[in-house]
Amino acid sequence: MKPSAFDYECPTDLNAVLAFLGDGTDTRILAGGQSLVPMMNYRLAAPDRLIDINRLPDLDYIREENGEILIGALARHGDIKASDLIANHLPIMVEAYAWIAHAAVRNRGTLCGNLCHADPASEMPAMMQVLDATLVIAKASGSRTISAQDFFLGTYETAVQPDEMLTEVRIPIPDHDAGWGFEEVAMRKGDYAWCTVVAMLKIVEGRITAPRIAVAGLGDHAYRLTTQETALTGATPGADIFEEVAQAAARAADPPDAEHISADYRRDLLRTLLPRVLQAATQRAGA
Ligand SMILES: Cc1cc2nc3c(=O)[nH]c(=O)nc-3n(C[C@H](O)[C@H](O)[C@H](O)COP(=O)(O)OP(=O)(O)OC[C@H]3O[C@@H](n4cnc5c(N)ncnc54)[C@H](O)[C@@H]3O)c2cc1C
Repeated sequence: MKPSAFDYECPTDLNAVLAFLGDGTDTRILAGGQSLVPMMNYRLAAPDRLIDINRLPDLDYIREENGEILIGALARHGDIKASDLIANHLPIMVEAYAWIAHAAVRNRGTLCGNLCHADPASEMPAMMQVLDATLVIAKASGSRTISAQDFFLGTYETAVQPDEMLTEVRIPIPDHDAGWGFEEVAMRKGDYAWCTVVAMLKIVEGRITAPRIAVAGLGDHAYRLTTQETALTGATPGADIFEEVAQAAARAADPPDAEHISADYRRDLLRTLLPRVLQAATQRAGA
């Protein structure tokens, strides 16, 4: 299929992008095009105008600043996956990227485009919540920041307004003794997740401290398991408590029924994957 007709602009400075976004025309930003172009071809999206941001200078960075990793709007998945900075400070992201799309898609697709697309079965929205990322959103009158936890509102729906652009993701570098775990089941490696579970925690004096757990594929957007985080805080890590919180999380989940995967199966995946993720995080935390 072909997309419906649209106007096309390719500005070379950010202010011009923001001016276009603010002029009231039904507009979409084109980043890697790996989600938007298929949606337009299927006529699931039919904007009047595309603003191609690929010629904006200096937005493809991945750098460290003041204890955070900063990732610009044009940093591609492939560059993030291959980055030494990410490998050193955020190996959990490298692990997850093994599950995200394929090399050709990762070479074009951007992290910021992925987050703005907000597919409910996408891995990075869960990842950003576990990493406690902050997202920088710009519009013509200025910029604002929002936590990853508040960014995702529903299927293909985020806090980014039509006159705004996500310009940067800021990820605090985790403490060296923080442990992490990532598990996913998908129909094929590189497909969107049937169930993804991501966690990070510390072990202080034998007890779980500051656990953060997020899931994708189980609702209309990725979400934190805050009730289970509270149950784990201060607990001694072990198979029994991990099983207990996994059972509770699975009971509370309300996943969708789909053609190839039932809601019950997704709940089973959560029940199975969550203890594995918590076990891996505990081991990496040095307990
Ligand atoms: C075969 C295939 C398999 C895939 N598998 C997976 C997978 O397993 N997991 C996964 O998570 N993803 C997967 N993807 C999607 C891939 O990760 C995309 O790259 C990503 O979702 C979108 O990034 P993009 O840069 O291509 O954005 P685009 O497609 O250009 O844009 C996506 C949406 O975000 C908006 N947008 C883009 N950038 C910005 C910005 N800076 N500010 C505001 N709005 C913006 C666009 O207007 C559009 O609405 C797959 C894609 C394909 C084609």
